[in-house]
Amino acid sequence: MTDKYLVEPDIGFLNEVVGLGGDTLKKCYQCATCSVACPISPDNKPFPRKEMIAASWGLKDRLVGNADVWLCHNCGDCTTLCPRDAKPGDVMAAIRSYAITEYARPKGMAQAVNKINKLPMLLGFPVALIIILGAITGLVNWSPTGEIVHAKFISTWLEDILIIPASIFAVVVFALGLKRFIADIHQNALDAGKTDKEKIDAAEFLKALVRVIPRILKHSKFSQCGENEERATSHMMVFFGFIGLFIVTGIFFVVLYIFGIHGPYSQLNPVKWLANIAGVSLVIGSALMIKNRLAKTDQVSTYKDWQLIGLALALGLTGMLTEMTRLGGAAGLSYTLYFIHLVFVFALFVYLPFSKLAHLVYRTVAMAYAEYSGRKF
Ligand code: SF4
Ligand code: SF4
Repeated sequence: MTDKYLVEPDIGFLNEVVGLGGDTLKKCYQCATCSVACPISPDNKPFPRKEMIAASWGLKDRLVGNADVWLCHNCGDCTTLCPRDAKPGDVMAAIRSYAITEYARPKGMAQAVNKINKLPMLLGFPVALIIILGAITGLVNWSPTGEIVHAKFISTWLEDILIIPASIFAVVVFALGLKRFIADIHQNALDAGKTDKEKIDAAEFLKALVRVIPRILKHSKFSQCGENEERATSHMMVFFGFIGLFIVTGIFFVVLYIFGIHGPYSQLNPVKWLANIAGVSLVIGSALMIKNRLAKTDQVSTYKDWQLIGLALALGLTGMLTEMTRLGGAAGLSYTLYFIHLVFVFALFVYLPFSKLAHLVYRTVAMAYAEYSGRKF
């Protein structure tokens, strides 16, 4: 006898996906062209057709904790070939966007980060924090004189009082979200018959994670994109720009607190070169992303997309201009830009697990899970 499956649509989820750029999903008539067209979908239970069906039925549980949703790299090949203009690539992106909000806690913060009208409040928070903490601790000098040294204006101690707890907060939010995410993708894989292992073997999972890292660094899946091939370049530039800046921050942290060497550091210092290259990469990569998105009028670009690109550009530009104005001797401008840069750095860390940038973590874990479970894609 055929098993019966009671469909329980989650209308709230359906409406959210529609609002996040998946408003075309109802046009799908399930022809499967998209699954055939997708250059990275596996032969066994391919995506995105099954996700289109599940989305149109409002089957939240089958989608939010579905690793396949994250294996999609939003190349747009399926969207171009869809005969119904149902834009499956955009629907997949909308589901990912929903999933980030679903796994991040506190939920109110996740919702606020993704609403444009909350942006002034979200950026105003670090501004107020710097001013208040500066007033309490005396670690902000509003009228520094002499040689331009940013630490004379905002002490490195205050920077660390802000950034270290912000980083810990991001790690904790990610850890809690990933715990639920991994449990859900494993349960979904079991239900769909994609794996027969009842429990995840942590050691094997970590080995799988190590195996996928080189693929992620090489952007090998992005290179398989046909329609949006140029996206790989801009994505790689932003990706390595962020990685470079994280490395630089880590090295200067050690140099300052272990070796007690204060900045500003010489322009001949190789770490400074790395910082400059990473900053330029971030600015050019995000500018290319803007150009690509504006050119792709058939692809949905939501506030979350623009928010991430805007943050990358703002971080790169304020960082580079802070340095250039320091070297040019424009003290007032340099200190102002430094203040703005610090606000963006704080925003990056605190809002990271709730923003589109969280895809970096969720996609990595989903790819590791696919590798672990032997799902070839
Ligand atoms: S999204 Fe388009 S291509 Fe994919 S199954 Fe639906 S109608 Fe066909
Ligand atoms: S957007 Fe690209 S990667 Fe994603 S499902 Fe469509 S064809 Fe596949």
